[in-house]
Amino acid sequence: MVENKSVLTPQFFNGISVVWVDLDDTIWDFRANSRVALRGLYDDYSLSDAFTTPEEWITCYERHNHALWDQYNKGLIEKEYLMKERFLRPLLEGKHRAATELGNRFDREYLDRLAECTELIPGAISLLTKLRERGYRIGILSNGFVEVQHRKIRNSGLSSLIDYIVLSDDIGINKPDVRLYRHAEKVAGVSAAECLMIGDNPDTDIAGALNAGWKAILFDRNSGATRSTPFPTVESLSVIAEVI
Ligand SMILES: [Mg+2]
Repeated sequence: MVENKSVLTPQFFNGISVVWVDLDDTIWDFRANSRVALRGLYDDYSLSDAFTTPEEWITCYERHNHALWDQYNKGLIEKEYLMKERFLRPLLEGKHRAATELGNRFDREYLDRLAECTELIPGAISLLTKLRERGYRIGILSNGFVEVQHRKIRNSGLSSLIDYIVLSDDIGINKPDVRLYRHAEKVAGVSAAECLMIGDNPDTDIAGALNAGWKAILFDRNSGATRSTPFPTVESLSVIAEVI
C-alpha cells in the first residue's frame, strides 16, 4: 500500500525528537496582535486625517508590509529597508502630511507595542504542553527579528515550554534557506531525520523543511478540503495534539 503522505497519523511522529514551530501565526497570533498595535498607532497619532477608518489604515499597511516581507523572504531586500518602508509607503499613499516623520518613528513604536501583545493561536499552549509530556523537545524556528521575538515569547508565557529559539537573525539566513535548518539541527544536536517543522507558510516554513530532509506539517487556518500534498495540512493545532 502506498503511504498517503498528506494524512497525519501517530506513525508520522516516529523517529522525531525535536518539534520546531514557527512563531508568527503558528503559535503567536500575529494577525490579531498586529491589528491591536496598528489600531493603537491610529488612535494615538490621529491617523484619521489620512485614513477614514482604522480598518482602512490597517488594510493599507498590511498590503505594503506583505509585499515587502515577500521580497525579504526571497532575500531581495534587507531588513533595514523593510522596516523603513513598511510604514512610509502606506503613510505616503494616504497622503499624511507628516508621512516621512511618522514613517521614521513608527517601526520602533509598532514593534514596541507588538511585543507587549499576548494573543496566542487557539490550542497553542495545549499542543506545546502535550508535546512536552510526550517527551519531544520544542524549538521556535522563526524569520522574525531577534529583538522582538524574544520579548513576544517571554511576554506571552511561552518561555517555559520551549527548549530552543533559533532565529534567522542569529545567522543572517532566512527560511526557506536550508542553511538555517542545518543551523537549527546543530543547536539541538540532532540529525535532519529527527526534526519536524510545524508552520503556516508553505513557501518558507514547509518548503525549507522538506528540502532539509525534515518532516513538516502545514498549519492552515483557512484550509477547507484535504489537499494531496507531500505533507499533512491541519486547520487547527488541536488536530496535531490529538494525534501525538
Ligand atoms: Mg508564520
